[in-house]
Amino acid sequence: MSRVYNFSAGPSALPERVLSEVQSELLEYGGTGMSILEMSHRTPAFSQVIEDAEATLRRIMAIPDTYRVLFLQGGATLQFAGIPLNLMRRGRAGYLVTGLFSCLAAEEAAKYGEVEVLASSEKTGHDRIPDLAPVAARAAEGDLDYVYLCQNNTIYGTQFHELPEVGDVPLVADVSSCFLMEPIDVARYGLIYAGAQKNAGAAGTTVVIVREDLIGDGPALAACPSYMSYRRQADARSMMNTPNTFGIYLTGKILRWAEDEGGLAALAAQNRKKAAVLYGLLDSSRVFIPHAEPASRSIANVTFRCATKELDEEFIAGARARGIEGVRAHRSTGGMRASIYNAVTLEAVQALAAYMREFEDAHR
Ligand SMILES: *Cc1c(COP(=O)(O)O)cnc(C)c1O
Repeated sequence: MSRVYNFSAGPSALPERVLSEVQSELLEYGGTGMSILEMSHRTPAFSQVIEDAEATLRRIMAIPDTYRVLFLQGGATLQFAGIPLNLMRRGRAGYLVTGLFSCLAAEEAAKYGEVEVLASSEKTGHDRIPDLAPVAARAAEGDLDYVYLCQNNTIYGTQFHELPEVGDVPLVADVSSCFLMEPIDVARYGLIYAGAQKNAGAAGTTVVIVREDLIGDGPALAACPSYMSYRRQADARSMMNTPNTFGIYLTGKILRWAEDEGGLAALAAQNRKKAAVLYGLLDSSRVFIPHAEPASRSIANVTFRCATKELDEEFIAGARARGIEGVRAHRSTGGMRASIYNAVTLEAVQALAAYMREFEDAHR
């Protein structure tokens, strides 16, 4: 078996320990005589899987009791609709557009109500988090159902390191690509959600953490599909229909792994170390050009390019030849991106850095 160094943006690297555990349990799970893939979601064994996943997540993120945890399907993208359908009670929300995913979320929400773009980084090619003062001023007017942001911009490699001041207006955050990478104060948000395939498992599971009072008696819009009603999903403990059983099982294992690694503070320390290796190299480079402004840099996705497309292609091909995969950036930006999520080891990052130095020496 030979595994590459995987810097894919998602689906992305998983901890080897978890993959081995899944392999060893695949034919028979926990003395049940069957695979987790073959098991009804109404069995005691599966109930324990989903309950343990939620309990572990609550421990490692210190989620207050006033929040509900849901394990849904449809990816982060379905939540672009789920959020306005459930939360647009007055029909107006503010969006911070800092990349493709927040742009798509704003466009989707505009089908259901008034969307105001409160800040945007489009003019500078999404290379930074914009000034948040106007967001605070607009939120203070008090008529917005929520303020929405994408906390880590997977494609552009920028991240909110501070949140806008929104007073009593609920803050809604897509944390798909920075989930579990550092501690966050859940109480500052009304709703947080993450597709699992970046840091928390396989594609097909989305974790939604929502303050109970926001979901009230039901969705804001009567036309909300039953599946997307946070109220119904919370009441059914994410099992109003057949949930993604295997995905939830895998996410549960990742959460246990994260806890065994020392929890989010320990993972954050390791993640900062990994990011510093790459940003340090980019800052002193004469060949690589970093995309994100230093104050807005992501700890999850490091974006850069060379002076020409030909050099980018040469770099990507050379990486592949050295067992380094997934460094081609998103098709919308070009250049390179190294996604250094929780399961990407310091050793992998050092291997990439060594190749970058080699490339630099050959081309400066
Ligand atoms: C990957 C990603 C998405 C899209 O996720 P899907 O599961 O493909 O819908 C949305 N937001 C962010 C921040 C992402 O990284």
